[in-house]
Amino acid sequence: MHIWSVSNQKGGVGKTTSTVALGGLLADRGERVLLIDLDPHGSLTSYFRHDMDRGGKSVYHLFFDKQWKDADFVRGMLKTTSMDNVQVMPSSTSLAALESKVSGQEGMGLVLSGALSRLWDDYDYAIIDTPPILGVLLINALAACQQLVIPTQTEHLALKGLERMVYTLKMVLRSQQRQLPYRIVPTLFDRRTNASLMALKEMRRAHGNSLWDEVIPVDTRLRDASAEGVFPHQMDPDGRGVRAYRHLLRTLEQASVAGS
Ligand code: ADP
Ligand code: MG
Repeated sequence: MHIWSVSNQKGGVGKTTSTVALGGLLADRGERVLLIDLDPHGSLTSYFRHDMDRGGKSVYHLFFDKQWKDADFVRGMLKTTSMDNVQVMPSSTSLAALESKVSGQEGMGLVLSGALSRLWDDYDYAIIDTPPILGVLLINALAACQQLVIPTQTEHLALKGLERMVYTLKMVLRSQQRQLPYRIVPTLFDRRTNASLMALKEMRRAHGNSLWDEVIPVDTRLRDASAEGVFPHQMDPDGRGVRAYRHLLRTLEQASVAGS
């Protein structure tokens, strides 16, 4: 199973959209895909019309009583999407309180990778949508994934968030004593605005090596797909946004092959 994490400590930069778009494109060519919602806001869970507070099991429950060790428990919590070969591991609002409940306990950083090891033969790809906070959930995502995608909105204010994300990443990886390939992905790019162009230039200057050399453009069809609860490619297979995500997918897969 390939495991990718989509992270940035800033909200509204396209994390959930990227998770859904990439997962949909993988599934479209027949891969079995698991999308994981680690964000207490649960945007990914509600994207597919699941109500987070219906009381079902969620990622939250993995952290207690070693529930992650039970493959059937993990399988039992998964939710459907608009494609048969994609499931969602749902979030719940209780996730917001996880930090205070587990802080100081040992082994809490490896819960998600433990749970995914139970599903190793069920899926070809898992993509993790992470919360915009440095905490136990982001640590779990970084520990579980083999590649990191950092969507960054092409506007000046987002650049500070990017610096913070890269700093956090380096700090966490140092403490985990591991390396992790990461790719910064410029999102919500509007070529008509000077702000987008300037921000992209600045990103190139500061992060040239890790920056994807294309962009995800502003495309309202991505928003429409989310309003309908379907994958972007199901709504508009040749739209600008979907085409850009197809290119991104190709880049990420090349990196996966190079790293394995
Ligand atoms: P995050 O998960 O980082 O908070 P989202 O993926 O939820 O960000 O995106 C924030 C908002 O912007 C959502 O309403 C989403 O539909 C919209 N959006 C994301 N990417 C694009 C894009 N490329 N073009 C237009 N709208 C987008
Ligand atoms: Mg989100």
